[in-house]
Amino acid sequence: MKKAVSVILALVLIMLPVFSAVPAASENVHIMIDKTWKILLPENPTDAEQFTAGKLKKCLSEVFGAEIEAVSSADEKFIAVGSASACDVSGVADNGYRIMVIDGNIHINGTAQRGLQIAAYRFLEEFCGRKVYTSKITALPQSESILVPVDTDIVYEPYFESTDTDWRSPLDTEYSMANGLTNGSRRSLSPEMGGSVDYLGGFCHTIGWLCETEEYADSHPEYLAFHDGERTAEQPCLTNPDVLRICTDNVLRILEEQHNPDAPLQIVSVTQNDNYSNCECENCKAFEDAHGGKPSASMLNFVNSIADAVKENGYDNVAIDTFAYLYTLEAPKGITPRENVIIRMCPINCCMAHALDAVCNRDFYKALEDWSGICKRLYIWDYATHYLHPCAILPNFGIIQRNIQIYYEHNVKGVYVEGNYFIDSCDTEFAELRAYMISKCMQDPYCDLDSEINGFLDAYYGPGGGYMRRIIDIFTKRAGTFDGHMNFLYGSWAVMRPIMSAEVRAIDNLWKQAELSAKTGEQFANIKRSELSWRWWKANAAKGEFSHLNPKRADMLEELYRDILNAGVTVLQEFVDEDLTEIDRDVIRYSPPDQWHVGKESSALVRDFIKINKLVEKAPFIFALVGYIYNLIHS
Ligand SMILES: [Zn+2]
Ligand SMILES: [Zn+2]
Repeated sequence: MKKAVSVILALVLIMLPVFSAVPAASENVHIMIDKTWKILLPENPTDAEQFTAGKLKKCLSEVFGAEIEAVSSADEKFIAVGSASACDVSGVADNGYRIMVIDGNIHINGTAQRGLQIAAYRFLEEFCGRKVYTSKITALPQSESILVPVDTDIVYEPYFESTDTDWRSPLDTEYSMANGLTNGSRRSLSPEMGGSVDYLGGFCHTIGWLCETEEYADSHPEYLAFHDGERTAEQPCLTNPDVLRICTDNVLRILEEQHNPDAPLQIVSVTQNDNYSNCECENCKAFEDAHGGKPSASMLNFVNSIADAVKENGYDNVAIDTFAYLYTLEAPKGITPRENVIIRMCPINCCMAHALDAVCNRDFYKALEDWSGICKRLYIWDYATHYLHPCAILPNFGIIQRNIQIYYEHNVKGVYVEGNYFIDSCDTEFAELRAYMISKCMQDPYCDLDSEINGFLDAYYGPGGGYMRRIIDIFTKRAGTFDGHMNFLYGSWAVMRPIMSAEVRAIDNLWKQAELSAKTGEQFANIKRSELSWRWWKANAAKGEFSHLNPKRADMLEELYRDILNAGVTVLQEFVDEDLTEIDRDVIRYSPPDQWHVGKESSALVRDFIKINKLVEKAPFIFALVGYIYNLIHS
């Protein structure tokens, strides 16, 4: 798959308010589309053509405030769709499209399963200003007419064959179509929308059940990994031919049951379990030693054999997926993945304060370069959530676009950015913004992300979007912990360099300004919800109203806790799902929020927090004095 976009546009499109004057168009430069135009379909349209025409008809009718007709014959003023168009797409890569002006009319066509449909979304975005920011917020300015430059010839070819992320809106069909998400793991895209790239059987860590490791533990311990001097069911032995046969049979059985020959691509995941217990038996060791001493060698050899069997059985639109992470991160020598093998790399140990081409990420970058040199189907499983402290701000905004560019520049074909998939249980941060930024960058890694962010902030947070932008810029500047780097796995809640009190007050003021600017209850609620992550940070850093000098610190903590609960939060850490209403009140009042997840007074640290803070409270004179000084400072 190639690249990119060639856009030849003379001028940026003008979006006018309802019933404004007719746009100042020059006949030689633009064609003007209004309510008299028709959607032109072939006599017997395909499902994809009907879907595309329906989308254009519905949205253009909304723009013009008048019903736009779809017809099968027209001499002029038409938007021709699919085979009704005169667009030559013979040179356009799969699932790409072309949008052209020919003789004063619009022609739209696409390739493979989804090219045509997404061309309609691009047309609406480019020329009508339609933006699907969230599953609930779509911008579509109304106007009497829209202008399209006469020399328009847009060609788009997808940067990635599979794109995927979490949070809330990316699960929505319309959001996914508009913002280019194609993987079926988290969304349902019907055949007329072009279908999706699906994992059959499982998304990850499938090797245990595919090799039936547990089942054979007693009868055939040699099927299990030999690790640290004993057999363990945590991974299988990958050089045992019986294990390969069992796994291949299971993969073929999955395909017999679920294969769809019309799908764009189907994937069977043969991926290691989430541990370091790889087999170190004599055979595995010898094979790996002969291939650069890399444990990825036996894994790759194993999946190559399965991929051969899949191909021999005629499954041409199927790929076998395996991981390159933990002990398989580094590419082997002298063995290369088959064309129908996906190597899915996970930058799980990488620094999120800096992009992947920074010095601190050199190990992963080297592995990426090596795999990129031998693998034709490289995929990525990236991360953009602080899983230990999802209530806190993860200031990785500055690396999102560059990292996705790096993937594309290393011939990566599929990207999944794991977000906060438990968002319904913990939504206090910049969830929707983050999801939108990631989606837009996967759709086009070289998009004008600044303008996308600003557009989003105005739509989501309202007229105070500019204040929100300044806040986000400060967070981005502060990305990193005390040593300047940050890792979401091990980093503390304070995934931000120290912010001085004066700057804390400045940021507080920006939140206030944003809130005051809100025009709707929804905008106000969005600002307040995102602000919870800032309050969470202050509470842990003992800054602002959470300063230890503030005699009301305990009350402030309790208020934050209640606001977090009122926002619907039921989970304070990934995998930790306990009844938050049962957290001891002393824990809430006297320990920082990053300790709340312990619930009861179960840790020595929490007990110390409570003891010390209660002592201070029992000495009213000292308390009054520090309170006086605090108020002096903050007045
Ligand atoms: Zn082995
Ligand atoms: Zn770093």
